[in-house]
Amino acid sequence: MTPDRQNSPATALHSALEGEMEKILGCIHCGLCLPACPTYGQVGNENDSPRGRIYLMRAVAEGRLGIDSPTLARHIDLCLGCRACETVCPAGVRYGHLLESARESILEENGNRGADLQQKMLGLSLRHIFPYPARLSIVFALLRVARRMTGLLLKGRWLRRISAKGDFALSLLASTLPVSWRRGSGEPTVISAAVSSGTPVAVFTGCVMEGLFTATNRATSRVLAVNGCRPVEVSQQVCCGALHAHAGDLRTARELARRNIDAFDNFLRAQPAGSPHPVIAINAAGCGALLKEYGELLHDDPEYATRAAAFSRHVADVTEILADREIRRGAEIHQKVTFDAPCHLYHAQRVMTAPQKVLATIPGLEYRQLEGMQDCCGGAGIYNLSQPQMSAGILSEKIEKVKATGATIVVTANPGCHMQLAAGARLHEVDCEVMHVVDLLDESYRKAGFYR
Ligand code: SF4
Ligand code: SF4
Repeated sequence: MTPDRQNSPATALHSALEGEMEKILGCIHCGLCLPACPTYGQVGNENDSPRGRIYLMRAVAEGRLGIDSPTLARHIDLCLGCRACETVCPAGVRYGHLLESARESILEENGNRGADLQQKMLGLSLRHIFPYPARLSIVFALLRVARRMTGLLLKGRWLRRISAKGDFALSLLASTLPVSWRRGSGEPTVISAAVSSGTPVAVFTGCVMEGLFTATNRATSRVLAVNGCRPVEVSQQVCCGALHAHAGDLRTARELARRNIDAFDNFLRAQPAGSPHPVIAINAAGCGALLKEYGELLHDDPEYATRAAAFSRHVADVTEILADREIRRGAEIHQKVTFDAPCHLYHAQRVMTAPQKVLATIPGLEYRQLEGMQDCCGGAGIYNLSQPQMSAGILSEKIEKVKATGATIVVTANPGCHMQLAAGARLHEVDCEVMHVVDLLDESYRKAGFYR
């Protein structure tokens, strides 16, 4: 990887936070964000609320608190990064950016100090596996083998008695099995609808999506093709860097952003100038939020700033692209379905209705509204592994609400939420399947005979 162009080694350790002073001072301490904050809801501690965390950041920026303070690290670590506080903030405080800057500052100052073995392993894999497609494909190949064997381990309850943590981790992995495998049906590969014309759209395949949710990526291309888009493959694309940005490793996130901008360069240059259509489709909310913010991530990079902003303007969630069109109707699916909004779709991207619009076009579905659908499920990237106790409390509340809907399918649009909800349903013995929006639409199209 080339050296980071924005952060020279001479950069002061907490300059990132000092640079955010304007955003920090934007907080008027009104407290309207407190009821929206899941961690505050769990523990009722001001320091685990958005306002409290901003106060701690301000103390660092003003030199009243050390960046190496364990108190600061504890409360910043416990934040989900769900950005629900941004949606309700009347002052428009961009909390997500503040959080990333705080985490970057803490990471640069503390490194791995104080991290447990699991956190160190996660940090190592983010730096030494995720940026390298060849290493990543080996890891995901091993995980795909492992998930096919998890069924036996999860069938008996003995694992739960021995290790609740192991049981939860295997449940996360098992939840990534494609719907077609679980139902014993084949994966449709050929589209009978005409696909040679229409708006060219490149699917951003992502790392976890391509590694563990390959079938959903293929379904994304199929449903776009059925709805007047021409899917175009873009090679050389890499992990979007969202997990890195979330963990404060902005240096790696920027490097991955540059590589993706280079990978999509030829495709974007071929688009008509000034075209109003988004042409990069993303089906993972966490990735989509960062792709749409590449412009901000690289705004100080003289070589990439303009291209990064142009790249971001071309990105849209697949549900946004579909909802903007006359969505073709497939066959009826008679299921009770509810929708849980991924935080990075609802709060970070402000895509609040497109998934429901897509679901409304599937005949036969009985939609059940989920109370607090915009509240975090506790997955939050790798938060469920790094903060298992807080995550489990938030997940229990979510699963109770899912159960109250009586839905047989809970639909979402992000791999982390998908895995968290499916593991939660299993552990809480709620008979409910988890699916991506496009998987359900794809199933309706498959039943209608749109595919061979
Ligand atoms: S809602 Fe916004 S302005 Fe009010 S306390 Fe929270 S972050 Fe500050
Ligand atoms: S991002 Fe989520 S968990 Fe963090 S302070 Fe905001 S609402 Fe609370």
